[in-house]
Amino acid sequence: MTRVYNFGAGPAQLPEAVLLEMRDELLNWRGTGMSAMELPHRGSDFEKIAHESEQDLRELLAIPKNYRVLFLQGGGRSQFAMVPMNLAYQAICMAYMDTGVWSQFALQEAQRYGNVHLVASSADNHYTDIPPQSSWSLPKEAAYLHYTDNETIHGIEFPAPPTGYGFLLVSDMSSNLLTRPFDISQFGIIYACAQKNMGAAGVTVVIIREDLLQREPFPYTPSMFRYGLHAENNSFLNTPPTLAWYITSLVLKWTKKQGGVSKMAEQSQRKSAKLYAFIDQSDFYHNPVEAHCRSRINVPFILAKPELDQQFLKEATKMGLANLKGHRLVGGMRASLYNALPESAVDALIEFMQYFEASYA
Ligand code: PMP
Repeated sequence: MTRVYNFGAGPAQLPEAVLLEMRDELLNWRGTGMSAMELPHRGSDFEKIAHESEQDLRELLAIPKNYRVLFLQGGGRSQFAMVPMNLAYQAICMAYMDTGVWSQFALQEAQRYGNVHLVASSADNHYTDIPPQSSWSLPKEAAYLHYTDNETIHGIEFPAPPTGYGFLLVSDMSSNLLTRPFDISQFGIIYACAQKNMGAAGVTVVIIREDLLQREPFPYTPSMFRYGLHAENNSFLNTPPTLAWYITSLVLKWTKKQGGVSKMAEQSQRKSAKLYAFIDQSDFYHNPVEAHCRSRINVPFILAKPELDQQFLKEATKMGLANLKGHRLVGGMRASLYNALPESAVDALIEFMQYFEASYA
């Protein structure tokens, strides 16, 4: 059985080198006679994994000293609640950008905790654009501004973060953290689930500016939802997801070995540009997103004849191109081009799309 190219939106393809490393040390991690997931989480061996992964992430993203890195559970979605629970107690309002399904979910969750001010929405044009900054409504009294850096379902990515408005900026980078360099110091909180560019499902990384840990959360906030408590306990408030954390530690080392985040940025630029160029020259495939905010990471596309969707998926799967089915809300196809997906996968996909168009258009 050979491995396929996995275009799934997450859990995503892992680097083969990481899977082989996991296999090799499955029964005996670094001479302990145990696998990494059998290590006591408070022992010095697992602490090494925790320490190294934090250092590697700090190095990869140039995280300043006044930011804490937390390895939490509950996925990206728990952050939709943790952010307002920890930042918005007694706040007049919270400001949210609505550029797709994930920002919608984040916004709806925040509504449980107070007034949400909608800064801008691209719902009216079916999330194919980011509204121009001139149209944004920015309430000065907002506790923070939340936006989704990359919309995994609609394939929209902010070309640059919405900085410069004097807001405490909170960003969901679940699908594009580690795919391009950026200036962390412009943010209050950045969060990302691991199962796309950083490992397997189960661990969620939160990068939080230290002073925010002093903010008083809503009084009823459970211990497990308090950033301050997690920081005080170095992400060991309870038993952390040790297997997922270990996998993340390997993926971070792999990312460094590949040349780091700037190299990942070069590759994702090249991979996505190739695919968009092919889609754009074709009358058979179509991507509806405005060029300036097309995602380098998730590329949705539809077929001119939707009745051929099933045939496309069937033949693609047969060719070793897996999980191209688009999200049910958008339809058609979606190719997710995360860091671990090699450029040869995009070449193979384009070749297949050419063949399919020539055969069925
Ligand atoms: N935000 C974004 C941008 C996502 O793509 C996802 C998952 N696809 C989430 C949040 C939710 O993450 P999880 O499933 O880990 O809760």
